[in-house]
Amino acid sequence: MSANPRSYKTRAIVLRARNLGEADKIFTLFTDARGKLDAVAKGVRRAKSQVAGRLEFANEAQLGMHRGRNLDIITSADITHSRFASVTDPAAYATAHLLAELVDAFCEPDLPMPDVYALLEGALAALAGAAQPAALLPRFQLRLLDALGFAPPGDACVACGDSLAGHAAWADLDAGGLACERCRPHRADALALNAEDVANFQGLGAARSGRVRPVLNATPAAARAIDAFVNYHLGKRPKSRTMLEDLAHLPALREASQSANG
Ligand SMILES: [Zn+2]
Repeated sequence: MSANPRSYKTRAIVLRARNLGEADKIFTLFTDARGKLDAVAKGVRRAKSQVAGRLEFANEAQLGMHRGRNLDIITSADITHSRFASVTDPAAYATAHLLAELVDAFCEPDLPMPDVYALLEGALAALAGAAQPAALLPRFQLRLLDALGFAPPGDACVACGDSLAGHAAWADLDAGGLACERCRPHRADALALNAEDVANFQGLGAARSGRVRPVLNATPAAARAIDAFVNYHLGKRPKSRTMLEDLAHLPALREASQSANG
């Protein structure tokens, strides 16, 4: 039996933080015990704080917690994985922000979601060594939609149920899936996927243990369709996606300024 029923331990990933008063911070955490959670770390902005520096963005830590009246209090933190202590790649950092923003936006507070925890933990770990960090996003997003119950089925038309194998399809955002040629939405902006994109879409959404072989890299059309489903369910475009796109244009900007200066 626990010595203090108001104390508990949990693994947690830091999604974001904001200052509280003179010395405290409120952390938005994704925990394996209780899902998304806001918790206070007292005195964390003072130099002597044991917890300071351990709760940086995207770090994973084993936390000692105390249930408070309003917010829980972080009483101890032991680093499990420090993600950005040595990472200097801005694309990895921006991608991590998008992962955190999506988990934060989609997940209800105090609702344990072990699948989402494992997904976020795995994606953050993969980011560190990724040559193209943003390439992890399509599969992450589709697996996240799946964990939330929003996943668009990739194998059959969302309207008539006909198999899409070997066929082109169109993203029908309102219907929540891909539609065959007969059932496709007739809008100018409906995203089209050729047969190869449809197979890719299905592989991107596949669980590791499932019938369909999982795919890690997206075709451009499949990636666009997945972004569109995410935006649709979120009701907006994630802020971090703009940051990522700005980064993608940086080399071109740099070259342009160099040739202008040279
Ligand atoms: Zn159909």
